[in-house]
Amino acid sequence: MSGGEPALYGRADLYGCTGATEAEPESVLLPGHDVPLGRYTTVRRLLPQRPRRMVGAWCFVDHFGPDDVSGRPGMQVPPHPHTGLQTVTWLAEGEILHRDSLGNVQSIVPGQLNLMTAAHGIAHSEQSPQEHPPGMHGLQLWVALPEEARHGEARFEHHAALPVLRDGDVTVTVVVGEAGPLRSPARVHTPLLGAEVLFAGAGEHRLPVDPAYETAVLVMSGTADVAGVALAPGSLLYLGQGRTEVPMEAAGPARLFVLGGTPFEEPLVMWWNFVGRSHEEIARARDEWMRGDRFGVVPGGERPLSAPEMPTVRLKARDRHGRVLS
Ligand code: MN
Repeated sequence: MSGGEPALYGRADLYGCTGATEAEPESVLLPGHDVPLGRYTTVRRLLPQRPRRMVGAWCFVDHFGPDDVSGRPGMQVPPHPHTGLQTVTWLAEGEILHRDSLGNVQSIVPGQLNLMTAAHGIAHSEQSPQEHPPGMHGLQLWVALPEEARHGEARFEHHAALPVLRDGDVTVTVVVGEAGPLRSPARVHTPLLGAEVLFAGAGEHRLPVDPAYETAVLVMSGTADVAGVALAPGSLLYLGQGRTEVPMEAAGPARLFVLGGTPFEEPLVMWWNFVGRSHEEIARARDEWMRGDRFGVVPGGERPLSAPEMPTVRLKARDRHGRVLS
C-alpha cells in the first residue's frame, strides 16, 4: 500500500542516505508457532524456523504477550545457564528483574536494554518483581557468538538510554548495532542490527540498512505494510540481503522490530539454553550445569532449573539454512 500520507522521509537528510533499492530482493513471510512456557505464558517463536534458522547472528526470537499479569506472578524463570550466545531482553510493557551468577541484579523497563553475554558460561534468573505493572509484553532474543568471542568471560550490560530518532509520529530506537548515524552502545561481536520502530499513529518510515545485511521484520502490536507485505503479530518477514532501506507503513498505532546482520556462516548446535558447535560441547555444558560447575550460582537461593535429558541421537551442527554438514 502507498499513497494518501506523504512520505515522512522523502527526506533522505534524516539518516543521510538516499534510499532507492536497485533490484527487488526476496521477501518471505515465515509464520511462527506458539510455544507454552510455564503455566502462565504462551510465546510466539519466530526463530529458529525450519526454512530460516537465523537472521545475521540472531538465532532465537520469542515474542511474549501482551499478557495481563495483574494479580498473577508474571514471568518467573528460575536460574538457568547459557553458553555461546548473548541474550537481549526488550520490553514494550512490564518489568523484569534480572539476577546473574556474576552478581548483577538489574531491573529492566520499556525502552531499556538488558544484554547478557554468556560467552563460556553464565547463569541467570528472570522474574517479574512482586509489585509489577499489569501488562507484560516483549521480546527475548539470542545472538550467536562467533568463534573468537564464544570462549571468553561472561559479562552483563544494562543500557538505560539508547539512541532514538523521532520524526512526527514515528520513534526509532536502535537497540543493537547501527542504523544511519544512530549507533547503540551495546557491545556485539558481529555486524548486527536490532531496532524498534514505533508508530504512534498512521505514518511511513524508511529505516536505512546495510545492504550486506540480511534483514527481517516482526510486528509486536498493530499491523503494518512492510516492503509491500501486510504484516501482523505472529510472523517474521524475511527480507534477504541487498536492501539499503526497509520501507514500513502503518495505518494506525503499531510497534515493529527490525532484525539484521551479516549472514552467520558458522554451523551451530542449539540445544536447551546452549549454543555450541558439536554434540560433545553441548553434553559437557549440560554435565557441568548439573554438577554445579562452570556457570556459577545465581544469588537469591532459588532452586535452579534442571537440564532436560540429552536426546538419544547425536546432536548435529547445522548451518543457517538448516543443512547438516557431515
Ligand atoms: Mn535465559
